[in-house]
Amino acid sequence: MIPVHQHEQNVAALLGRTERVRLPIAETLGMVLAEDVRAPIALPSFDNSAMDGYAVRAADIAAAPVELPVTADIPAGRTDVPTLEPGTAHRIMTGAPVPQGADTIVQVERTDAGTERVLVREAVPVDTHIRRAGEDVTAGADALAAGTELTPSVLGLAGALGLADLSVYRRPRVLVVSTGSELVPAGTSLRTGQIYDSNGLMLASAVREAGAEALTVHAVADEVPAFLAALRTDVDLILTSGGVSAGAYEVVKDALTAEGVTFTKVAMQPGGPQGAGRYRGVPVVTLPGNPVSSLVSFEVFVRPVLRAAAGHPVTTRLRLTARLAGDLSSPAGKRQYRRGIHRDGTVRVVGGPGSHLLGALASANCLLEVPEEAEHLPAGTEITCLDLR
Ligand code: AMP
Ligand code: MG
Repeated sequence: MIPVHQHEQNVAALLGRTERVRLPIAETLGMVLAEDVRAPIALPSFDNSAMDGYAVRAADIAAAPVELPVTADIPAGRTDVPTLEPGTAHRIMTGAPVPQGADTIVQVERTDAGTERVLVREAVPVDTHIRRAGEDVTAGADALAAGTELTPSVLGLAGALGLADLSVYRRPRVLVVSTGSELVPAGTSLRTGQIYDSNGLMLASAVREAGAEALTVHAVADEVPAFLAALRTDVDLILTSGGVSAGAYEVVKDALTAEGVTFTKVAMQPGGPQGAGRYRGVPVVTLPGNPVSSLVSFEVFVRPVLRAAAGHPVTTRLRLTARLAGDLSSPAGKRQYRRGIHRDGTVRVVGGPGSHLLGALASANCLLEVPEEAEHLPAGTEITCLDLR
């Protein structure tokens, strides 16, 4: 048996960083920026109104109430804004350019909202409700740093700067292969002894959620030729499930041992039987077939490596500390991952340790990480949890 960290290192050693690609900005959500970007324009790029109202000179309304002629109308998007003459007002909308000559904005609520003439009821000081050019981002400033994850807010900034495409690290391509002669696709009726393939969809989804690209193969039967025929080498990683434990008909083990993939037992529960290596030069990670084992193994060994390959500065799940709601026991000498629901600093275990318990897995929002040396943990013990949300 090898310790968890040893297998973590074995898997991590298989994958390097993907290359940089330039992509249209709309395709980059969740990817990592590969270059520093300077702001090509200032934000805002021109002085504009923060309110619907009137652009005036503060001095002209100092003695409010006062009535002024409205000499122009400036909706958002108007580009030929005339200069404001003293003693007049321009009606202006939020986001429209403040005219030359104006030094403040009176909100429409402080007026009679007139269109020919406007009655301004209250004076406002100079510089009220004006968004100044460059007050958010100055032109030429460092706007986005290499290594930044492209979240919706970061993409909002990049979009405001008018960036049409970005240099990012390519998403790793992962071939997801589930194995088992008992597996049938959804939509077919089950005969006793058959089950629906859940790992295929679950692992492909986990791959995508990690920011990688998933190519899926419909479940292959436990026959070496069929399994080998399903493999392809134009991917960054081949990820299999099933066929790696101690029984007969362990198709993944049977097919890949000769190819140089190493199969081991890891001191972990669930997820003891594992394999890692290369098939014709392509990295391969072989996960156990039990659904909970499969997903937990993905979380522990594969997700961090895919994140690192895609350039993410943070590759691990957020770890939080919570107090056990009840007692917990765990096998000595093995790292155990139990499914749990954490809330307000307390974590409750859901379901037993069985690695077929998909219902409990689906209701969990975290994995409790029970250290190798722990055997009996009383309620109230502080424990580390991997936040799956
Ligand atoms: P194995 O690792 O192939 O011996 O499979 C262990 C258990 O996981 C068996 O009960 C399998 O039926 C189940 N299993 C394997 N692959 C899948 C899959 N793709 N979807 C659902 N269950 C699976
Ligand atoms: Mg199997």
